[in-house]
Amino acid sequence: MDRAVQQTDYDAFSCKISAINKKYLPCQKELEFCEMKGFSELHMAYVHRLKSLNKRAFGKVQRAVQSGLPLMNYGTYLRTVAIDVECKSFLQNAASNSKVQVLNLGCGSDLRMIYFLEQYPHLRWIDLDFAESVSLKAKILRTEEQLKKVVGELRDASETEYVSDRYFLKSCNLNNIEKVLELLTEITDPEVPTLIITECVLCYMDLPKSQALIHKLISLYKSGTWISYDPIGGDDVNDKFGSIMQTNLRESRQLELPTLMVFNSTKKYAQRFEEVSKSTEIETMWQYYVRQVTQEEKNRLKSLQFLDEIEELQLIFSHYVLLKSSW
Ligand code: SAM
Repeated sequence: MDRAVQQTDYDAFSCKISAINKKYLPCQKELEFCEMKGFSELHMAYVHRLKSLNKRAFGKVQRAVQSGLPLMNYGTYLRTVAIDVECKSFLQNAASNSKVQVLNLGCGSDLRMIYFLEQYPHLRWIDLDFAESVSLKAKILRTEEQLKKVVGELRDASETEYVSDRYFLKSCNLNNIEKVLELLTEITDPEVPTLIITECVLCYMDLPKSQALIHKLISLYKSGTWISYDPIGGDDVNDKFGSIMQTNLRESRQLELPTLMVFNSTKKYAQRFEEVSKSTEIETMWQYYVRQVTQEEKNRLKSLQFLDEIEELQLIFSHYVLLKSSW
């Protein structure tokens, strides 16, 4: 089961490369780092290394790029930009502090640390995932000079992780809360403002484990914000989205989404944070698309690929949420 969950990283990364390939990403105006020189090049450099290190993952990237479905590209664009915007807003608000830290839990091959580390000199970034994902990512970072330059020179000789002055890529099973706390107590400072990201991660965890993670980490850090992105099953009796998704994943990938039908609405998903956090906001990705994406950007997206399945876009986006919870 852990292996099936770990492999979902290749899906997420493949989708991102497809969205870059079709020019959905980087986004245009919302974020100044969209203009960042080398955004696409750095991702392509990562893919290039992946080719020599993990043929299976590389094959997945190739297939995703070839199929390049507009619905998938829209979804990847939206979740990436929505989380980046929240990250940027948190880091700007925290700019007056001498220190700030980001924990990307279940980071997979996500490379967003590269542009935030470059822009915020006081930032310490912690990426955590299963050992297999971490070891592959560490190997790529160690051998790809362009990426190494941004995350900083290696500070220790570990073959399977990557630690520099400001970047920590460490292996850890998030289900083992004692180990998570032990590791984070060692490499982070509970007094420093902390942003926690779980992008498509909590959905793979059992209910008690994911709730323990939320409760313990919110109690550990004095102040912070948690950004979480996940699918929700839907709470309407006629809504079959969640049950179809569960069956498909179980049959094709032996993957379980244990809480998809438990936290099946925005209200219920928010409640898991409201128990411990001071303020929580949540919206579906459809609401985000309608309210937050400018008309100019919507037109740009429309021009990239032909998309006539707008009802399907609405249906899918209504089953994904972005939550922001602060304490
Ligand atoms: N957050 C990344 C992104 O959105 O690009 C990766 C998302 S991928 C769908 C889910 C990631 O969560 C995988 O890399 C997986 O290994 C990680 N993950 C899920 N459960 C985990 C656990 N218990 N411990 C460590 N990592 C976990």
